[in-house]
Amino acid sequence: MNRFREPRPELDGLIPYDAKDVRADVVLASNEHPLNLPGEIVAKLSQRLSEFRFNRYPDPTATELRKLLAEANGLEPENVLVGNGGDELIFDLLLAWGGPGRKLLDAPPTFSMYGIDAAVTGTEVVRVPRRDDFSVDEEAVLERVGRGDIDIVMLANPNNPTGNLTDEGFLIDLLNATDAIVLVDEAYFEFSRHTMRPHMARHPNLVLLRTFSKAFSLSGLRVGYLFGHADVVRELMKVRQPYSVNAFSQWVAATVFRERVAFEQSISEIIRGRDQLTHGLDMLHGVEVFPSEANFVLFRVEHASALWRDLLHNHSVLVRDFSRSPGLRDCLRVTVGTPEENTRFLEAVDEVLTTRRASEHFGERATATWHDG
Ligand SMILES: *Cc1c(COP(=O)(O)O)cnc(C)c1O
Repeated sequence: MNRFREPRPELDGLIPYDAKDVRADVVLASNEHPLNLPGEIVAKLSQRLSEFRFNRYPDPTATELRKLLAEANGLEPENVLVGNGGDELIFDLLLAWGGPGRKLLDAPPTFSMYGIDAAVTGTEVVRVPRRDDFSVDEEAVLERVGRGDIDIVMLANPNNPTGNLTDEGFLIDLLNATDAIVLVDEAYFEFSRHTMRPHMARHPNLVLLRTFSKAFSLSGLRVGYLFGHADVVRELMKVRQPYSVNAFSQWVAATVFRERVAFEQSISEIIRGRDQLTHGLDMLHGVEVFPSEANFVLFRVEHASALWRDLLHNHSVLVRDFSRSPGLRDCLRVTVGTPEENTRFLEAVDEVLTTRRASEHFGERATATWHDG
């Protein structure tokens, strides 16, 4: 044969995820923790590394880590599922509750993986756009789930990339209004300190997602987890890849979780850094900044793509460009870094905007570099 058969038609419009391996001195693009694992944790791991059994398959259910996560959250291990990053668990939820003929409701602009995984699993996406201030259109969501054909709802809380929380009273109304699985994605819980955990007992359809990628410096090891009713977790066990969370990641995540007090200081510093970025951006002429409860800040500025390029090429500062995403015209997202990185970012934005204004003042129309595309 000089050809190969077409894959599933659902793949037609999809573009492979491009994490853009762009190098820069200051990387504030992926909501990672700015610091590597604390030295004392690395030392503890190194001491025991020689005993580590690289040759054995991992524990498929991550028993030890599950037990730790359950205990710390007043749950049973049966209520916890560990995944290869939160991303895998989002995919598992759509394998189990999505699929052809079934529907996901989400509220864009939001985390792009919901829509991508829905497409891959052949799940129809019902999009209820957020309002201009990025709050969820509560009436529209309640009306839509009221029709009874939604199988699963995904709401990031706080939302990525907008940073805002969803009203807790609304989430309770939603849980009361539907038997659809409601995923409240708490990937940024450690920064927002808001959780729907207290409502789990009354709502078997409530599922919470957390991760080690954002607050615990483990983006590279891919460990996320969810909390749900034991029967929901049991269904997810049917679709998941049994060995998806490797033994090394399980071991390191369990060690990090036991030592999690070691992160308290850096998490507080990131929250202070968020204020530094919010106030710093707010002071700049022509910048609209959106309040955030996470470890990143979204802001809107004219010719955002040009600013993104100037920051990268002239200041070696990398942020995330959302300016072409629906509902996020002229928006960039900056992850909170170390105080020094935050300062460097703010000074770079200030310099680019000041230069821009100066040449506008001298009557030079925005030159090509200030234009999108
Ligand atoms: C980062 C993130 C996740 C999960 O990240 P993982 O690295 O796969 O654990 C989930 N939801 C949202 C909204 C996120 O921003």
